[in-house]
Amino acid sequence: MEYPTNRTDAKKAGVKHYFTGKPCTRGHIAIRKTKGVCVECMKEDWVLDNERRKEQPKSEAAKAAGRKYYERNKESVKARAASRPPSEVRQYKDLHKQKNPDYYKSLTSVRKRRHRDATPPWVTAEQKLGMRQLYLQAQQLTKTTGERYVVDHIVPLISPYVCGLHVPWNLRVITQEENLKKSNKLLAP
Ligand SMILES: [Zn+2]
Repeated sequence: MEYPTNRTDAKKAGVKHYFTGKPCTRGHIAIRKTKGVCVECMKEDWVLDNERRKEQPKSEAAKAAGRKYYERNKESVKARAASRPPSEVRQYKDLHKQKNPDYYKSLTSVRKRRHRDATPPWVTAEQKLGMRQLYLQAQQLTKTTGERYVVDHIVPLISPYVCGLHVPWNLRVITQEENLKKSNKLLAP
């Protein structure tokens, strides 16, 4: 498609873009909007605006709008989340962790306390070491296979029916996927 070479001609012709062939003030050689600026400059500004917006804490209104959007589009939101490649998901999680260190620290301390409370006094130091090795094993498997491995309490520490113990024979290393299936089953009525 042929563009007019200046704004005046573009206005006369009633078209939305023109192309001078010369660099803009930021050095782009690109088409320009008749009622605006160079399209590459606009793209840059969008990206910058988005970055800036992400840095800002969300207002209550924005959060409410987000929840409303989710309620109305649950299925497509979930489908989009499920189709995201694992590497991207991990990247996002790492970023979230970086931005919310206090939240993650509290999670770890809650888990630690839960484990300590569920460990009977007669568990030996050797058995404790064995349990720690299971966690290392899960970490190692995650690294080598690329799939997330976790340590599962076969009988959950917290459940409406029974409470499991943090002891060697109640632990096993499984993939996070299996673990999620299990918790879904436990949550089902
Ligand atoms: Zn430009």
